[in-house]
Amino acid sequence: MNFEIPTKIITEKGCVRLHADVFANAGKKALLVTGRNSAVKTGAQSDVLLALAQCNIPYCIFNEIEENPSVETIEKASKFGLAEQADFVIGIGGGSPLDASKAIALMMAHPTRGTEILYSKDFLKELAPGTPLNLPVYAIPTTAGTGSEATPYSILTLHEEKTKRSISHRIFPVVALIDPTYLTEAPLTVLRNTAVDAFGHLVESYFNTKSTHYNRMLIEYALKLWGAGASELASIDPSYAEKPDAEEPSKNPLKKLFSRFAEKEPVVKAKGIISLSSQCAEKLSLASTLAGMAISHTGTSLPHGLSYSLTYEQGIPHGDAIGIFQVPYLRYIPEQDKVTSFLAFAGLESLNDLENLLIRLIAPATVMQTDVDRYVDSMLSNAAKLANCPYSVDKERLTAFYTENMLIKVEN
Ligand code: NAP
Ligand code: FE
Repeated sequence: MNFEIPTKIITEKGCVRLHADVFANAGKKALLVTGRNSAVKTGAQSDVLLALAQCNIPYCIFNEIEENPSVETIEKASKFGLAEQADFVIGIGGGSPLDASKAIALMMAHPTRGTEILYSKDFLKELAPGTPLNLPVYAIPTTAGTGSEATPYSILTLHEEKTKRSISHRIFPVVALIDPTYLTEAPLTVLRNTAVDAFGHLVESYFNTKSTHYNRMLIEYALKLWGAGASELASIDPSYAEKPDAEEPSKNPLKKLFSRFAEKEPVVKAKGIISLSSQCAEKLSLASTLAGMAISHTGTSLPHGLSYSLTYEQGIPHGDAIGIFQVPYLRYIPEQDKVTSFLAFAGLESLNDLENLLIRLIAPATVMQTDVDRYVDSMLSNAAKLANCPYSVDKERLTAFYTENMLIKVEN
């Protein structure tokens, strides 16, 4: 049994400006890797620029990372970073820019090689002794879901294979700077589906063949935080979030349902955007990073494996695609008493309770039976994810993950 997170974790309001010195010896020029809008909107990018200015470090910005980033985008960004002579990478955003920054840092460290190195298990053997695998990566998350700031994983879209897959190399960020205030004005749908992703990491790591005392310890603590944060998110009426002048959330009947968890009223700011309480943002953010540390040691299992086809082919966001399969995954765990105590950490009494919570957090999906057959076959060929599952599955059982599921409708 061993446990190691090489990433230095700094979690604090205003931490990027307060700990600007972490960049002092990072390198000669920074490549900032972001999506189109959120790095700027959250203020995270301007915090980074101030910190770099304080350390007299020049920078360049690649802001074209799409959701579920593709290998093609990684190639484009790394060529840009090399042309700019950047020698370290700062990822700012949700899991997509953070995962992208790891793969870009790998590509930039080997300028004569192509994208085949991303998925080459033998590449490490080809490296001359002492050659670093990647440029240093700094991670600044603006979502609380993937935990990518504390994981070695980088999941990319492979258009050739019409799916998503983690690259073959483990790349931990050197430093993660986690400021929960970046979450406080995010769209409700993003907050919800990313929170569900973090829950998926907690479930799939806890009930994993590689699970140990260490990851379970992190998870049991994280679940308490997550349960409180998720109930606040669930208590917000989406129609209210869409209409700034609608009635207050306190008059919303859903609020009553989750009143045993709820802490503070969220305030609606603009269409689809809510202002989350800082306590809730802190809880979700910490739970997400702890969940990232947990999966760093176990990996994920069936729900993540099943989610990739739904995201690639149906365009379902990562967190929603994960959430759909949590209840079936837990239903087949042989020791149901352990499932009950696991759920209790999050303040949930039963799988039914969990299902009701998920129904409020994510959007239901519809798929065709013929697609289900293909997705099940693809899952059955994913040896790594199957090996992490504590029970065996066959075609019939995996099909039931879709057909006996309140969150997905199968059509003929
Ligand atoms: P994301 O794809 O990074 O971002 C989703 C959307 O949310 C984007 O439109 C983004 O805008 C926006 N956004 C991000 N932060 C925001 C904020 N604070 N306020 C307003 N909008 C914000 O979402 P994600 O769920 O965090 O990441 C999903 C990716 O992570 C998937 O590719 C998944 O496979 C991967 N993942 C990785 C790990 C790991 O261990 N490495 C684990 C699980 C999942 P912009 O485009 O403008 O930034
Ligand atoms: Fe995930």
